[in-house]
Amino acid sequence: MDKLTRQYVELTEVDRALAQTREQLERYPALLARLEKQVEQAGAAIAEAEAELERARRDRRQAEKEVETLRERISKYLLQQTQVKTNKEYEAITHEIEATRTRIDEWETRGLEYLELEDQAAERKRGSEAEVVRLREELGRERERIEGLMAEKREAVARLEEEKRQRLAALAPDEAEDYELLNNRNPGSAAVAVQQGHCGGCNWALVPHTQQQVRQGTEPVRCEHCRRFLYEPA
Ligand SMILES: [Zn+2]
Repeated sequence: MDKLTRQYVELTEVDRALAQTREQLERYPALLARLEKQVEQAGAAIAEAEAELERARRDRRQAEKEVETLRERISKYLLQQTQVKTNKEYEAITHEIEATRTRIDEWETRGLEYLELEDQAAERKRGSEAEVVRLREELGRERERIEGLMAEKREAVARLEEEKRQRLAALAPDEAEDYELLNNRNPGSAAVAVQQGHCGGCNWALVPHTQQQVRQGTEPVRCEHCRRFLYEPA
């Protein structure tokens, strides 16, 4: 392989590493955002359970109040019963008392149901609270880990950029420009290996003459289709 092609190949390796590292760097914030969203959702579940708990508690108290009112009504009926003159009146009041007792039963049953709902909502709330605590801890650890990785990747990018700068500086200006044009179009694959007679970048079937030139390796050869620099794989 001629010297210039060798330089292009080495630059391509640097640019490939740069492209990969930059792509990794871009992915990290999304990882954190996903975890933050999970914490947020668990927080919303707490609020929901709290609202349910409040509703069930209010309904339960209402049921208890109804029972109390109905019991007072029965006391009044019993008092009235001691004052009635006729059997008919007495029996009418007995009917009222029975009907009222039935309603008390109904309200007590409802009160128990609300109490169960209250317990379930409280349980859900506790579960969501524990989940938020767990997720916050996980988020904290993950944030630390990812920030560490991002710092590493940023350092790697700076190191690679410096290496690239030096390698470009070693080329003639028009050679460097040729390379940069290609690299901007195909980041990290300006120079590619020939693979079974095809361009390793665009897969174009190279004419025999081009393949021959690449094998000779006396000067840079480009793909006839995508213009990438070609080299013979080791
Ligand atoms: Zn090509």
